[in-house]
Amino acid sequence: MAVSLTAFWVGFGGSELAVTASVAYFAMGLLYEYTHFIVHTRYLPRSKLAKAIRMHHMLHHTRNEAYWLAFIVPQVDAMFGTAPQPGSVRMSDMAKQGLKASRDAAATASGASAGSS
Ligand SMILES: [Zn+2]
Repeated sequence: MAVSLTAFWVGFGGSELAVTASVAYFAMGLLYEYTHFIVHTRYLPRSKLAKAIRMHHMLHHTRNEAYWLAFIVPQVDAMFGTAPQPGSVRMSDMAKQGLKASRDAAATASGASAGSS
């Protein structure tokens, strides 16, 4: 927060608005990190907005990491053309590796549980 306060202090020419801007920037960072954390847990949201945010971000990780970048405010992706129809985007190599790792882990887990019973 000290770095952002310093940057805003310089940017606002020493005005006390720098404190407000820095606190707002910090709060947005917390909101971003909290939302990102929740999206990656097993928690399934109930509200339509939260479901849309979760789906938007999961496309980023499971389809192609070059798209669906602004998951807290998906409209930003619409502005920049980074929210195409999912079917029109090829699955990235990174997404394929993630899918393979997920399947391998599931196979290992089911094999381990079958072997232990
Ligand atoms: Zn993520």
